[in-house]
Amino acid sequence: EVILSVRDLRAEVDGNEILKGLSLEIKAGEIHAIMGPNGSGKSTLSKVLAGHPAYVVTGGEVVFKGQNLLDLEPEQRSLAGIFLAFQYPLEIPGVSNLDFLRVSYNARRKHEGLEELDAFDFDELIQEKLEIVKMNPAFLNRSLNEGFSGGEKKRNEILQMALLEPSLAILDETDSGLDIDALKIVANGVNQLASADNAMLVITHYQRLLNYIVPDIVHVMEAGRIVTSGTKELAEELENRGYDWVKEELTAKA
Ligand code: ADP
Ligand code: MG
Ligand code: MG
Repeated sequence: EVILSVRDLRAEVDGNEILKGLSLEIKAGEIHAIMGPNGSGKSTLSKVLAGHPAYVVTGGEVVFKGQNLLDLEPEQRSLAGIFLAFQYPLEIPGVSNLDFLRVSYNARRKHEGLEELDAFDFDELIQEKLEIVKMNPAFLNRSLNEGFSGGEKKRNEILQMALLEPSLAILDETDSGLDIDALKIVANGVNQLASADNAMLVITHYQRLLNYIVPDIVHVMEAGRIVTSGTKELAEELENRGYDWVKEELTAKA
């Protein structure tokens, strides 16, 4: 079952074309990694998939579980089962983390035609999910992300993912400053939540995240397109030989 199909996607920001004909297909049960040098358009891809208003799609198509994703508002995308980690690290003073999680979760249930969970049942569910991320329950009563450390925000993000059980989780590890603990939190979350019914897309500049997550397919992005794809050995080769090696191989082939 194909979960995400991206065909010849083109997108621009401020009149500059950043995605230049990107194609990608992700099936249920797969973990994909996208690697690539800085500025190759990795974060742009995740923003376009999230529906960020500054990014204008100028060509191609994106089909998510049979629906035209580009027709959906950002909120509808999330309700349909796409999870984008960076959508959530916003800080909302005065809204407790617990309330935010319950509202997000119930919105999703409502969308699926299910009854909302009351506070009592939700509390039981969230305790289960806390185990997955080994989060201190005290965090639930704090304002959303307010004063959270980088690692705590990551943990919270993975908690949201564990709760919402998306069909497709897209994790853009934009922050090259992520410490090893934060990387492990992300990796453990991905490894525990990956199943035959969902798919994961992990975007990273560094190979080190892939020491903890074993992707089925590794893609390399360069100048707004996926230029080569392979197995996890490709990631290791990139780590050893750098991105220039991919460019040289491609030039030699052309
Ligand atoms: P990556 O995540 O692979 O490092 P990005 O998607 O962040 O790459 O950026 C790709 C290119 O798009 C870069 O050249 C960057 O400067 C440009 N870009 C990204 N966002 C904007 C923006 N809001 N305005 C102008 N240029 C942008
Ligand atoms: Mg970058
Ligand atoms: Mg980036």
